[in-house]
Amino acid sequence: MSNYYLGVDMGGTLIKMAIVDSKANIIEETFVYTDTTAKPKDVIKNITDVFKKFKNYHKVDSIGFGIAGAINFKDGVVRYSPNLPKWNKVQLKKEIEQITNKQVFIDNDANTAALGAYWLDIKSTVDNMVCVTLGTGVGGGIILNKKLFRGNNGTAGEIGHITIEPNGRKCNCGNIGCAETYIGVRHIVKETVDLLSKPNKSKHILKLADNDIKQITPKILSQAAKKGDLVAKQVWKNVGEKLGILLSDIIDFFNPDAIVLCGGISNAGNLITLPAKQEIKKRAFKTSAKSCKIIVSKYTSKLGVVGSAMLAKSL
Ligand SMILES: [Zn+2]
Repeated sequence: MSNYYLGVDMGGTLIKMAIVDSKANIIEETFVYTDTTAKPKDVIKNITDVFKKFKNYHKVDSIGFGIAGAINFKDGVVRYSPNLPKWNKVQLKKEIEQITNKQVFIDNDANTAALGAYWLDIKSTVDNMVCVTLGTGVGGGIILNKKLFRGNNGTAGEIGHITIEPNGRKCNCGNIGCAETYIGVRHIVKETVDLLSKPNKSKHILKLADNDIKQITPKILSQAAKKGDLVAKQVWKNVGEKLGILLSDIIDFFNPDAIVLCGGISNAGNLITLPAKQEIKKRAFKTSAKSCKIIVSKYTSKLGVVGSAMLAKSL
């Protein structure tokens, strides 16, 4: 039996593919652009044609897919994916297995990111880990005793929808005060725009955004904060504090060895981790907080594809 695994990260812009070895080192990688208007059958044909171009494809026994949305690991069906609007109840596992004759696993992208972080950032050296994906949505994946923990329906780890403000902001999920409504990209930008609409001491945000509030991004907010912009610093402090409340809950509930932060917002680094750690110090159980490493992933763009490949190893 070979020790190579193929991973496919089906993103909204790119479909990344990579062959990795048993230690999750990337041996070969490539990508194609995601055609959101194409029929699932055509996308599947396109991807499986690309597989054959890998030099080591014949050494691969299993293929793993990471996809955003309602993905059923058990039956291998993509029920719905926001990145692939034409995909409705697609029997992805069955179809790829028929074409490739290899074992196929599919899972949601928060779980594959967690597996990726477990192998790339943690090097699989701990037993229990939580990965928090900080992007437009806030997601999570749980590694329990070195394996993904999916829960009853595969929805374990919906960390972004844990309530952190009982009378807080309204969330798309129907709840009020979810973590995502304070630390998700849209809400961070909205908070910035609100602060800029009042008398304020911001000197850099609008300059960096070409005087167009629609161009404000987390990246611009990080740049502005590093230049000393008071509004940007305030926004990141707020985000860090809310993140710290969420992480304190996770630490108390789960007592993990490590929490890995990944996704676009994690690039803010110390701007959010310092206030988050202050909050954890105030709130979390001391022994649990002390033993839990908080790490910002160095591999955000690779987590999905590597984690997808490693699905077969995490059974
Ligand atoms: Zn929610």
